[in-house]
Amino acid sequence: MRIRELLNYGAEKLSEISETPRLDSSILLSECLDYDRAKILANYEEIVSDETITHYKSMVNKRSEGYPVAYILGEKEFYGYNFYIEDGVLIPRPDTEILVETALDIIKKYSLKTVLDLCTGTGCIAITIKKENPNTEVTAGDISPVSQKVFTINNRNLANNSVIFVKTDLFSSFKNKKFDIIVTNPPYLTTDETDERVEDGWKEPTLALDGGRDGLDLIKKIIKQAPEYLNTNGWLIIEAGDSQMDEMKILMIERGYKDLYISKDLAGLDRIIVGRYE
Ligand code: GLN
Repeated sequence: MRIRELLNYGAEKLSEISETPRLDSSILLSECLDYDRAKILANYEEIVSDETITHYKSMVNKRSEGYPVAYILGEKEFYGYNFYIEDGVLIPRPDTEILVETALDIIKKYSLKTVLDLCTGTGCIAITIKKENPNTEVTAGDISPVSQKVFTINNRNLANNSVIFVKTDLFSSFKNKKFDIIVTNPPYLTTDETDERVEDGWKEPTLALDGGRDGLDLIKKIIKQAPEYLNTNGWLIIEAGDSQMDEMKILMIERGYKDLYISKDLAGLDRIIVGRYE
């Protein structure tokens, strides 16, 4: 079979499961051939070896069962860095880059040093902050054993093991510790939204998605507890959904945070809330 035929095969097979069946097919075929996507497009008529076809078809099969491309490739790009991924952790989203960018700005502006990233998952936030600002001391926490494994690989591959990982249920392992800035992308979908995704065959772990009835279970705890773990004039940045921001803002005002503001992601949706605690 030729590249053109294999792309058609994939596009057809993935048309129901994926919103981007042709793109997915070309990414998977690129991986099998070790070509970049431009080379794929320029070589439509090239004949592909049987071995590569078998490999490609098994990947297309996996994708057709609902596995995201990132799980099949075992990697996902975030903020220009390649993160190792496996089934059982949330796949980094471009939506989260605004959180990293904002944290880096605040760290620089106020010469902050110690950073805590809660619910770190792959470690994409913590490790990117450390990469972009090596003067920081970054700690990352997560309750999930898969996160610990994936984080450890990324920390080694990308950051020379320079970020500290702590297995923890939110702040429980940080008694008496204080940080200059706490950042987090916790689970914040509602249980209904999570259930809907599971029914649709979504493969990411519900542990990383489900934030309870209104999606705010963990966020409420974080807003309430974070001041105990912040140095004076420490900062908190939380990622959530745009419909949750108003309520979060009220909760943060009630808890005494100052200088609150909300920033949008690349898609133009409110994505993070930022506050300072005196
Ligand atoms: N933004 C993610 C999504 O909509 C959810 C991530 C999360 O709950 N932290 O898929």
